[in-house]
Amino acid sequence: MGHDGRYAPSPSGPLHVGNLRTALLAWLFARSAGARFVVRVEDLDRGRSRPEHERGQLEDLAAIGLDWDGEVVRQSERGALYAAAIGRLDTYPCFCTRAEIRDAASAPHGMPGHYPGTCRELTAAQRAERQAQGRPPALRLRAGGARVAFEDRVMGQYEGVVDDVVVRRNDGTAAYNLAVVVDDAGQGVGEVVRGADLIGATPAQIFVADALGLPRCSYAHVPLVLAADGTRLAKRHGAVTLADRRAIGESVAEVRARLLESAGLPGDLDEALTAFDPAALARDPAVWTGEAVLR
Ligand code: GLU
Repeated sequence: MGHDGRYAPSPSGPLHVGNLRTALLAWLFARSAGARFVVRVEDLDRGRSRPEHERGQLEDLAAIGLDWDGEVVRQSERGALYAAAIGRLDTYPCFCTRAEIRDAASAPHGMPGHYPGTCRELTAAQRAERQAQGRPPALRLRAGGARVAFEDRVMGQYEGVVDDVVVRRNDGTAAYNLAVVVDDAGQGVGEVVRGADLIGATPAQIFVADALGLPRCSYAHVPLVLAADGTRLAKRHGAVTLADRRAIGESVAEVRARLLESAGLPGDLDEALTAFDPAALARDPAVWTGEAVLR
């Protein structure tokens, strides 16, 4: 526990330089504290996950000089653990479609993006009726608007309101917010370092951890890399993967040096490890212009 860390990519495509920067920082957080570092493949979304992407991602992580402890863990192989955890929670079936939740939330007094609680108090008869219509339900954990606050090591104090959390999707697979919590605890992760785009999901994950009686992790959400147009870096922004950069004649060491320098660190990985200071990390996004990552 403590500072034991992880990187948990979804194998839905090649990693781009923004993902690699997050991975480097996650590794630096753990290794600079002398802690363990593990890798987990988040392949619950069977439709988007591909073994060739998993392979390519792990190769790229190794190529930029990251090492990890133990075997790589795959979420697609952990369904029994998730089912056991879900069985320990106070859940109810939710038959709502996305569209219904959206419509209810946009009604007067509705809160955009918030689950209106439609299925929370259904009677047994109402549940049976919906079931009979053939709609498979998701399972939600009661949270009912709980406030959860935490101190992020990079972003500072953060607070969120937690809706009833979906822990099992209506296709029967574990929901991301459940799987992440079960896996972080199961893999002994004490400190979650990941992209700032995921900070909004953290209060729900802390709520799930509390409900399961698991220790809370500490969190460090690191700034994303944006493209010059201010949007989140993506494939359409050109040569953004390690393979792309190699194809235009750049070495892995050059790419890595730029990513480290964009975080205010020396471009050499060993020197970066010695110099790394979590408290000195910028909160602002880095900008990738194709030629350089600026701060
Ligand atoms: N698998 C998620 C992603 O690739 C990251 C989840 C996490 O770090 O908790 O965006």
